[in-house]
Amino acid sequence: MISQAIAIPRLIESKYHALNDLPGALKAHGFKRVLFTVGNGIEDLFKEKISHLTSEPELIITGPVILEELDVEKLAPMAYDFPNYDVIVSMGGGKAIDSGKYTAFLKGIPFISIPTSISNDGFASSGASLMIEGKRKSVSAKMPYGVIADLSILSTAPERFYYSGLGDVVSKITASYDWQYEANRGVGSVDHFALLTSKKSVNSVVRLPRPYIEEGLFLKEVVDSLIMSGISMEVAGSSAPASGSEHLISHAMDRLAPGEYLHGIQVGIATYIMSLTQDYRVNRVRTFLSDTGFFDYVKTFEIPKQLLVDAIRLAPSIKPNRHTTLHEQKYVEKAIKYLDEDRILRSILF
Ligand SMILES: [Zn+2]
Repeated sequence: MISQAIAIPRLIESKYHALNDLPGALKAHGFKRVLFTVGNGIEDLFKEKISHLTSEPELIITGPVILEELDVEKLAPMAYDFPNYDVIVSMGGGKAIDSGKYTAFLKGIPFISIPTSISNDGFASSGASLMIEGKRKSVSAKMPYGVIADLSILSTAPERFYYSGLGDVVSKITASYDWQYEANRGVGSVDHFALLTSKKSVNSVVRLPRPYIEEGLFLKEVVDSLIMSGISMEVAGSSAPASGSEHLISHAMDRLAPGEYLHGIQVGIATYIMSLTQDYRVNRVRTFLSDTGFFDYVKTFEIPKQLLVDAIRLAPSIKPNRHTTLHEQKYVEKAIKYLDEDRILRSILF
């Protein structure tokens, strides 16, 4: 029998003006001394919203303190220098969330994330993307105790983050296929509850009727999906339910063209390529990425086709211990062929 302790968020709010309820929620969950960290510029952008939290008389709030340090060698001493708090609350983009999450992990205290954009599922997962000896590495840190997704904040984020979030949502389709694919070939095993969570996280979004996509509440579905995806990784004890060959292509792009494109933009294109290659739910992926305007948006980046060719070839070596579809040479060739043969890929790559 396998038994494991799974940390899942205890406080999840995803709605318009969710931040207004945070002081009450902190008190209800027994937190008093709060370290409140933010990303650069967040305080100016959301002055009024933040004041709900910082002016709460029954809480002892330190902050907002700007914390966006990703270099572990600099972050660790900073973390130990902070006095003892009951909880760390971090608001901002990926850097603010990851540095706050890792600080809470080092201090052994709960962490609450308030994402200001939804470019990937990092705000609701235990992983943190940090710099170790000058290289970007995924480090396992701490599952957030709470996620406060304030839709009135997230809806003001630049559109590139929104499209990136969509790409990370749809990737669970090819990721779950790869996870089962390798388990069927004797590499690792599938955790069925994690697989179910991952599949449901994406299905609730991609099956929405087209008119819904234009409505504000679609954003909530995307946020909830990314939260579910973060939880699926926690249940599995690995990133496998949320990250397959499509993520390997994206990681390879990070190496070949560092910092050039957002994570979810890369992942979204790679998901479409891999759904064709796996011959798995192609219509669903294609319809979703077309209807949401993802493909049209990606086109504006003028991503070179050759970068994708190189990334697909490099992808399997990124995680040599896995056995996704791309770990078989015939599928590498098949994936590359689609770059020329598929009408949509021909039109969005340059
Ligand atoms: Zn991702």
